Amino acid sequence: MSEIRIENLRKVYDVPNGKEVAVEGSTLTVPDGDFLTLLGPSGCGKSTTLRCIAGLENQTSGNIYYDEDEVSDRLAQERDISMVFQSIALYPHMKCIDNIAYPLKVRGVPKDERYERAREVAATLEVEGLVEKYPAELSGGQRQRIAIARAIVREPRAFLMDEPMTGLDEKLKVRMRKELKRVVEETEQTVIYVTHSQEEAMMLSDWIAVMSDGEIEQYGTPNEVYREPNNRFVASFVGMPEMNMWMGETDGSTVTVDIGEQTVDLTVRDAASDAERKDKSGIEERSSDAVEVGFRPQALSVVAAGDGDFDADLDLVEPMGENSLCYVDSPIGEIRVVEDAVEGLSEGSRVGIELDRHKGYIFDEDTGSTIARTGEAPPESDGVSGRAATDD
Ligand code: ADP
Repeated sequence: MSEIRIENLRKVYDVPNGKEVAVEGSTLTVPDGDFLTLLGPSGCGKSTTLRCIAGLENQTSGNIYYDEDEVSDRLAQERDISMVFQSIALYPHMKCIDNIAYPLKVRGVPKDERYERAREVAATLEVEGLVEKYPAELSGGQRQRIAIARAIVREPRAFLMDEPMTGLDEKLKVRMRKELKRVVEETEQTVIYVTHSQEEAMMLSDWIAVMSDGEIEQYGTPNEVYREPNNRFVASFVGMPEMNMWMGETDGSTVTVDIGEQTVDLTVRDAASDAERKDKSGIEERSSDAVEVGFRPQALSVVAAGDGDFDADLDLVEPMGENSLCYVDSPIGEIRVVEDAVEGLSEGSRVGIELDRHKGYIFDEDTGSTIARTGEAPPESDGVSGRAATDD
């Protein structure tokens, strides 16, 4: 296994109308034996990054290292990596055991040894019962497991996977995720995994690089990208259901959000320490007082009208098993609330929305950078002012 490092990776494609910058100056390190996920929406440059790391694509500039070896100009076959793609490429005329053992055959490993190793890996992935079958006799999920077995049968320097779960049904995805996590932990593989699914990324990864428009927006642990998003993009992209974003104004110590006739005042928490954090401009240093405030649906709750921070109309309640996702109509658009209580939520009624005040994020409206977090209500305010005299 190896540590994988990319430095200022840039990839520009020539396209009919000019140039397409697919990857713009990416730098990151995946420690030896760790699992990194490149996460982001379609077209943000994840596959291109992976393909450059694999040597399937030549980067326009930048360097790629496996440990201390610079591999930037090496061919894919000289890089000693294994790959699994979304489309499963098993040899149809070979039994599964032969498919799994094939990478060892190519490397000249003696027959007994390669079949012994192939059976070991099949056992790890719990596909021993399938190895005498041909790929056409297997389901999609079984084939994908054989493909993973083939990828890990030898010990490559890294194991690269591009959307390997796409096409599997939901239940199977959940099972495959667990299996993959167990297998890569047991085998201590360095893994770089591409997905647009934040659920997969959160569950599998030691590190997540959240990408948008060819750039890495944030590189951190799953917990960091969820709890301490660098910016509005990461905050919106990571977390389900998507974070609520509201326009607000700040004087540096308080943020005011107008919800139609109602006003919510929020204190700015840790503005000073946030200002010291890298990549943060600091709330005091900004030229404009326009901000966006983000609250995750889990940080809001539905209460009786008049009892919350503001009132709105409960439009739709979608059961999600343990809890419900409430869609609330307000003058500033739809608000999503995850509510523990499944009962007593009556669609079409006027309700109060209560904020868990410690859990809001404040973003610079122009740059999108996170500039602070919210805190308790200011002492002089009960958090609600300008409420319409009657809430009918
Ligand atoms: P992702 O994996 O995040 O969906 P890609 O890395 O596949 O994104 O693509 C990033 C950008 O580069 C996209 O705009 C895509 O259209 C462009 N792109 C990818 N491959 C090529 C190519 N071979 N030729 C031209 N443009 C490409």
